[in-house]
Amino acid sequence: MSRITFATVWFGGCSGCHMSLLDLDAWLFDLASKVELVYGPLADQKTFPDGVDLTLVEGAIANEEHLALAREIRRKTRVLVALGDCAVTGNVTALRNLAGDPSGLLQQIYAERGDPTLAVPRAPGIVPRLIERVTPLHAAVPVDHFLPGCPPSAPRIRAMLEALLAGAEPSEIGRFG
Ligand code: SF4
Repeated sequence: MSRITFATVWFGGCSGCHMSLLDLDAWLFDLASKVELVYGPLADQKTFPDGVDLTLVEGAIANEEHLALAREIRRKTRVLVALGDCAVTGNVTALRNLAGDPSGLLQQIYAERGDPTLAVPRAPGIVPRLIERVTPLHAAVPVDHFLPGCPPSAPRIRAMLEALLAGAEPSEIGRFG
């Protein structure tokens, strides 16, 4: 049986959802027999490839780089899953919205609250511009499945992946947005 192409993406999140994915332990070998990992923080691809069958997204949309990549991923992915509460609702990452307009935020973080001799790195491509409000993934692009949890446990991730790989509707997860 040919393997499907599989990607994972890390936007505005703490990596806890990817750690939960790695908690699948020995089942990762079963997964590897069914999927070919083509993009993600666990791989070394620099660009998101065309024609990806299944993509899991951890984290909220917090900056222009996230937004552009989310749109590219949606164009190039057949089944898109929001993995974990940051992708599903904004969660911890969206607490930034309480600070209001983010225009001065990087200045505060890099300069005023850090070493006062430092400034915000300005070289192109180093620090993406923050978007006005952090949003969940489905506010930026249509999402096919949602797996809430902070993080979702490994057994729940496995149940979802087993269903999706079998071509079935995952029973444990919601569909909204
Ligand atoms: S949902 Fe929780 S574990 Fe996952 S990225 Fe957000 S804060 Fe981290």
